[in-house]
Amino acid sequence: MAVDIDRFLAKRVQSKMAKGVHDINRMAKQLEKSGHKIVRLVQGEPDFDTPAHIKKAAEEALTKGMTHYSPVEGLEEVRRIVAEKIKRDIGVNYIPEKEVLVTEGGTLGLFIAIMALINPGDEIILPEITFGPYLNMLSLAEGKPVFIPVERKGENFVIHWEEITKLATSRTKAVLLNNPQNPLGIVMSRKELELVGEMVIKKDLMVISDEVYEKLTFDALKHISLASLSEELKERTIIVNSFSKTYAMTGWRVGFTAANPELTRAMSRIYQGSARCAAPFTQMAVKAAIQSSQDCVEEMRQQYDERRKALYNGLKEIEGMIVPYPQGAFYIFADVRAFGMTSWDLTLHLLQEGHVVVSPGSYYGPGGEGYIRFSYATPKEEILIGLEGIKKALKEIRKK
Ligand code: PMP
Repeated sequence: MAVDIDRFLAKRVQSKMAKGVHDINRMAKQLEKSGHKIVRLVQGEPDFDTPAHIKKAAEEALTKGMTHYSPVEGLEEVRRIVAEKIKRDIGVNYIPEKEVLVTEGGTLGLFIAIMALINPGDEIILPEITFGPYLNMLSLAEGKPVFIPVERKGENFVIHWEEITKLATSRTKAVLLNNPQNPLGIVMSRKELELVGEMVIKKDLMVISDEVYEKLTFDALKHISLASLSEELKERTIIVNSFSKTYAMTGWRVGFTAANPELTRAMSRIYQGSARCAAPFTQMAVKAAIQSSQDCVEEMRQQYDERRKALYNGLKEIEGMIVPYPQGAFYIFADVRAFGMTSWDLTLHLLQEGHVVVSPGSYYGPGGEGYIRFSYATPKEEILIGLEGIKKALKEIRKK
């Protein structure tokens, strides 16, 4: 007898996820198999190799036999070094043994932060254009997203943070911010952070601050952490960060959280019941990453900067596309409403006619429809080829 598996599935996994990066990548692979050259402007990860000194540290740890469990919270010396890194980068003191967790990637950090705060029906306030997986995690926690309007004003995005006071209810637990932001490519100013901080205190909320792109800012812009603004905001903020983007280490799965001791304890309990710990040899690799010269980070940043300019200038030449100026992370979120297609259909069209893989704006929350996310974590030569493909594909729409 055929088993009706659906009957066994928990409610929390029954809601549909928006089509996104994985779906389009699967289709791109099929095209590639049939012999087409495909350009990927889709990836949410660095294309660079992990720097050699970081790999070497992991190899040495493996040779030494660091292949067993680490404490759930992370190796003691690595927690200490992560606390030193936080102090070095954002100027805030955290007690390593009480306030820092070494997580199995930033994704897990976000997940345990959400699970530690959200009861079914609780609300989290976040921008209506946002990193897609947040919505999946919130739905797994049976929480409710409440969206802050995002407006495109000319070539800038404005997130209406001032709406937080109106949106907060007795069920609201936290504001979720991502700075620098994926997919908008914006970096929050001190003034914006101060405004968010003021409202968070006024409405007695917590903050989950996703800072995984902290080192990817351009021009004269610098990342500022909300936790650095005051003692009270530090207490109200869970910092989630990762080594994935900064050191091209997405496959290593190491990140960290920094938060007050009670929350850190709660998060470590969820961590213990889920991923258990980050592998110790990967923790030794991030120890080396933090303690060695940071030149590799700057070198990669400069290359992203060059690619950013190439992609921005190229997209701007396309009639009908509105291209907001990218300030951070490695994405451009362009307004494509003039082409009269849904963002998913346009994504398919760009793949089929231009042989370029991008991701549809609809994956990035309810405000994302009408946009396409272009990633520039791709070599410049590829970007230039991709731009030609995009131009060709969009010209065909105009002809119709
Ligand atoms: N937050 C944001 C905004 C991201 O874009 C990503 C990766 N795409 C992550 C968190 C998670 O990164 P990781 O799990 O590799 O640390």
